[in-house]
Amino acid sequence: MSEFKDECGVFGVFNQPDAARLTYLGLYALQHRGQEAAGIVSAGEGRFKSRKKQGYVADVFDEDSLEKLGGRHAIGHTRYSTSGENNAANMQPIYIECKYGEIAVCHNGNLVNAHLLRSELVQRGSIFRTTSDTEVILHLFAKSLQSQIEDALLDAVRSIDGAFSLLFLTQEALVGVRDPRGFRPLIIGKLKGSFVLCSETCALDLIDAEYVREVEPGEMVVIDENGLRSHFPFPKEQHRHCVFEHVYFARPDSVVFSRGVNTSRLEMGRRLARETPVEADVVIPVPDSGVVAAVGFSQESGLTMEFGLIRNHYVGRTFIEPRQSIRHFGVKVKLNPVRSIIEGRRVVLVDDSIVRGTTSKKIVGMVRNAGAKEVHFRVSSPPTTGPCHYGVDTPKREELIASSQSVDAITQFIGADSLGYLSHDALVASVNGNDDFCTACFSGDYPIRIPESGRDQMKLFEKVRE
Ligand code: AMP
Repeated sequence: MSEFKDECGVFGVFNQPDAARLTYLGLYALQHRGQEAAGIVSAGEGRFKSRKKQGYVADVFDEDSLEKLGGRHAIGHTRYSTSGENNAANMQPIYIECKYGEIAVCHNGNLVNAHLLRSELVQRGSIFRTTSDTEVILHLFAKSLQSQIEDALLDAVRSIDGAFSLLFLTQEALVGVRDPRGFRPLIIGKLKGSFVLCSETCALDLIDAEYVREVEPGEMVVIDENGLRSHFPFPKEQHRHCVFEHVYFARPDSVVFSRGVNTSRLEMGRRLARETPVEADVVIPVPDSGVVAAVGFSQESGLTMEFGLIRNHYVGRTFIEPRQSIRHFGVKVKLNPVRSIIEGRRVVLVDDSIVRGTTSKKIVGMVRNAGAKEVHFRVSSPPTTGPCHYGVDTPKREELIASSQSVDAITQFIGADSLGYLSHDALVASVNGNDDFCTACFSGDYPIRIPESGRDQMKLFEKVRE
């Protein structure tokens, strides 16, 4: 683990019978935000109860474990992290007991000053159990000199910087905190007289909760038996919502940053068709990430859209590999072309992004093998030139093909007849944006710098853990 990285979904509920089961359902709807591990901590019926495991939500919990979790309040987390990393210790929610009693936390985002804070805390005697940036927040909290829990939480969150949509659970309250730039979403819902907090509105829909509003950037909401109250512990900052939530990450049926994701993606596709027109016979989406943009492309260009690539939705985290090597097995097990749609035709493939270029190359090859006359690749975002430091798991800069290669070179690499990206201005216009969005991975305009000093100290701890 060279960096703190998380791409996650969070869900919390206060004062509901069967809180753990509701949280399970919420996490189920947020599965796309993290497939590596899932966890729930419940409270309100004796001591905290916790279950976390690697795997999909449906595999981590069963009737029995949800029954045991029970609870009147609960928070849960779906986690995504770089594959191959042994991250069992880093699963969330993280739950501790300290002078304020029991507390659990889960986090979507990425702190940029965690390594500095961690070095200081270690100097002061803290013992860390994970390499997760989130644990730092709990140490800050436990070391606070305040007498009230709420003040101690305010102390802790004032010290952190970066991207954070956080949920805390104590025996008395559910707390939500969103960083002052609002990088990641955090939504407030209402369910039978009480409140729910979650990453995306699709989680509210599943449990029949009503959308109330977003936790404001820079706001801390405390939900307890008196209702909901707000604090604004941070200095005001320019809002920097992650544009990639609208490009790829959030579900199209969600409303995040007060805008429907489907609306943005359609607009990206329409603008892409206007900016990079091409003579062709059929538009084919790369499922699922390219589907909505392909609809927009088809509407604007007048070209028919057909489902020429079929995705197998049942590929789990692991599958039994064939004994004999099969060419491009990894992609083929997920996607298969429909020859009758592709053969002899000039195809426009639409996807949301090209990261390393390796998947796109395999897909282009697959479509050619299925008999396409021409393959034109269209991407509903600009070239990804830089890594994300604010919570989306992207590879290092060197591995991002567009960080060093021209569009012509990428066209050659993926083997397409032509390649077109959406421009930065069109992307921002598609999310109805002004300066409210972070586009760092496309533009290099990073809203917060990562402090350099203290990184070595951090690496030391990672080695110890490994
Ligand atoms: P590649 O051609 O190998 O760069 O892969 C491109 C595919 O990766 C596209 O279908 C994207 O939707 C998908 N993608 C983009 N960002 C991410 C991410 N952070 N995690 C997983 N997949 C991603």
